[in-house]
Amino acid sequence: MTSSRWTAKVLTLFPEMFPGPLGFSLAGRALDQGLWALETTDIREFASDKHATVDDAPFGGGPGMVMRADVVGNALDAAGSKTRPIYLTPRGRPLDQDRVRALAADPEITILCGRFEGVDERVLDAHGLEQVSLGDFVLSGGEPAAITLIDACVRLLPGVIGKEESLTDESFEEGLLEYPHYTRPVDWQGHKVPDLLLSGHHEKIKNWRREAAERITQERRPDLWNRYQERHMAIKD
Ligand code: SAH
Repeated sequence: MTSSRWTAKVLTLFPEMFPGPLGFSLAGRALDQGLWALETTDIREFASDKHATVDDAPFGGGPGMVMRADVVGNALDAAGSKTRPIYLTPRGRPLDQDRVRALAADPEITILCGRFEGVDERVLDAHGLEQVSLGDFVLSGGEPAAITLIDACVRLLPGVIGKEESLTDESFEEGLLEYPHYTRPVDWQGHKVPDLLLSGHHEKIKNWRREAAERITQERRPDLWNRYQERHMAIKD
């Protein structure tokens, strides 16, 4: 059991940030149950001078500091990843659910969290890191991004989410955003739940939800909508 457990290895200057939010609710329960494991590596332990220096000024000038290749390289060696390690960075390929699914299917994930201006490019090249971005915005560090990525993977692990349905209907599973949800009360401050959802007509409800999912995707994410349409055309051909 222990050897087959999905493991997240995190290289960080702030190991005390973990498990953080991953210690709660779904991911936290799964961690307690041993459905996955978390191993942090404190990058600072791999600094070689007496001040435990991990960063230095960029060659070529400019503001900020850069994480040193030697320090990060030693930390990566020590972490001993069985899979291609990931560096979280706004310069990476944007993360999507397909990639999350693949990462959750791997035996482990190794994530390097950057700080300051980022990491010396040479260590990224030499260790062949896969560069992954959470989106077109800049965080102050890779740790919140690592927590997000691990959370997305953990909820896909076998046994973490009880009912299979709660995964199959979701946003992106079919290339569409999810339909809207409603629960009690039926009338909230004069806002009513759509009648059809109370009708008990399963087929009609299914169609209503699909139409809503399509409309919302078309409105909010023309990029996803185009891809979805192309796929459907290809199936029909
Ligand atoms: N100078 C860099 C930003 C550094 S932000 C640039 O302009 O590209 C500091 C660290 O936060 C990064 O090394 C990275 O690990 C993390 N980070 C910031 N934004 C991120 C994002 N959108 N996705 C993933 N990680 C991010």
